[in-house]
Amino acid sequence: MAKNVVILGGGTGGTMVANHLARTMRSEIKRGEISVTQITADADHVYQPSFLFAAINHARIEDYTRPQQSLLSPGVNLVVDPATKIDTGANKVITASGATFPYDKLVIATGAYPDFNSMPGLAEVADNFYTAEGTVKLREKLTNFTGGKIVITIDVPHKCPVAPLELVFMLDELYREKGIRDKVDLLYTYPIGRLHSLEPVATWAQPEFEKRGINWECFCNVDSVDPQKKVVNTLEGSEIPFDILISIPAHKGAQVIIDSELGDEGGFIPTDRYTLKADGYDNIYVLGDATNLPVSKAGSTAHYEADVVAENLISELRGLTPSHYYDGKVFCFVEAGLNKATYVSFSYTKPPTPTPPTEMIHWFKLAFNEMYWLSARGIL
Ligand SMILES: Cc1cc2nc3c(=O)[nH]c(=O)nc-3n(C[C@H](O)[C@H](O)[C@H](O)COP(=O)(O)OP(=O)(O)OC[C@H]3O[C@@H](n4cnc5c(N)ncnc54)[C@H](O)[C@@H]3O)c2cc1C
Repeated sequence: MAKNVVILGGGTGGTMVANHLARTMRSEIKRGEISVTQITADADHVYQPSFLFAAINHARIEDYTRPQQSLLSPGVNLVVDPATKIDTGANKVITASGATFPYDKLVIATGAYPDFNSMPGLAEVADNFYTAEGTVKLREKLTNFTGGKIVITIDVPHKCPVAPLELVFMLDELYREKGIRDKVDLLYTYPIGRLHSLEPVATWAQPEFEKRGINWECFCNVDSVDPQKKVVNTLEGSEIPFDILISIPAHKGAQVIIDSELGDEGGFIPTDRYTLKADGYDNIYVLGDATNLPVSKAGSTAHYEADVVAENLISELRGLTPSHYYDGKVFCFVEAGLNKATYVSFSYTKPPTPTPPTEMIHWFKLAFNEMYWLSARGIL
């Protein structure tokens, strides 16, 4: 009987694990000893970092979308049918159509999602660039903007921790190019006492803000938003008026994780930081934004983790002892405007050290945006 590997999620992490596994174990798959099934909620795979560029009309999301089937190696069975329940007692996944998928090994890569209902008023009035629909709506507002106050609010945890900083730098330069920067008040807010949770990033960003005249407010936690008055009320007692409110609310894990009672209070799965096994489950691996690990929720994180999960699964399926460990590695480009970027590279033990932004790094980021599909397929 074939051993069933079920991979939940067809985003960055789930796709990389599926392809790595299918390529390395193609002989076992051909002989019917192993079956690899990917269950996902969407037939299309969207490269989410494109939202940042799409929000300022420098990219089209359609150009960064591929049919999920086209990204998978032969040997992976794709099921587009969202999982509704993970039954860890019976080792099976149940999907919305009522189908049941038994597993010997389960990989969970179901992502993280902004919760726009986390604060009263937010869903009615806030814009965002964290969903495809939100990005398209925001693009129209930002493109037609002729002046006024743009406020950015952030709550944690959220994916791509540097994206809000990148957007604010891009908006600064966009409106300079347009010749209306003096009419635009940009206010970036952050929940703790500095501009970013990663201290070296905050230290790098603050002089950039000062140089560019970008305003900021730290210790700024949204309590509610008044959609009629267009005012953000904070837990700290301030009232912040806005013309456009761009909000990155706290994220939650996927609904199936919450419904299966596998997550913490935010729906993130307690995960071993080195082996990436779900705490208490020897046959379940977790990666990407779905984990509760103290690392950035980023595509690069999912990528580095995918190699560990796939290699350890291969060892286990071949009867060997798994020997790969995740070291907390994350790599993120940071756009510092329209034509320059820096990057941060860090791990559990090594803090990030942003370097001065250059045009070359910006072009590397743009090049990676195009090469992502090779990376997802496991070619790069
Ligand atoms: C604006 C923005 C900019 C970003 N920029 C960067 C960047 O520059 N660099 C970087 O490294 N990262 C960046 N990211 C973050 C990156 O996109 C995510 O961290 C990455 O996609 C996480 O991969 P994942 O596999 O964990 O989740 P995802 O890629 O989100 O995939 C989750 C998958 O789970 C599926 N799913 C959900 N529920 C179910 C269910 N019930 N049943 C089955 N399937 C389900 C979904 O359909 C999806 O296929 C950015 C994100 C945003 C929003």
